Amino acid sequence: MKIPRAIKIGGLKYRVKIVKKIDNKDSSGETDTRKLTILLHRDHKREALEVTFMHELFHAINLNLEEKEVEYLAMAFYGLLKDNPRLFKNGR
Ligand SMILES: [Zn+2]
Repeated sequence: MKIPRAIKIGGLKYRVKIVKKIDNKDSSGETDTRKLTILLHRDHKREALEVTFMHELFHAINLNLEEKEVEYLAMAFYGLLKDNPRLFKNGR
């Protein structure tokens, strides 16, 4: 997965930053829907970083989702996209 520097979610452009510090020490990522930023902690292995990115996307998509729902959706979609890399390519 290529983690973009920016991504549009619901018509809003979020900046994606890989940082060495996140305010909530227990967190691997953070989404700020006012500043339109998604922060990802850099001290993670690649796949963990990707799952965290997916996790933060679901937070940005729907702030009302419970944490466990976000966890479930992030893992499910991460697996789906990772295991089916041609899913969004054109043609059959
Ligand atoms: Zn979360």
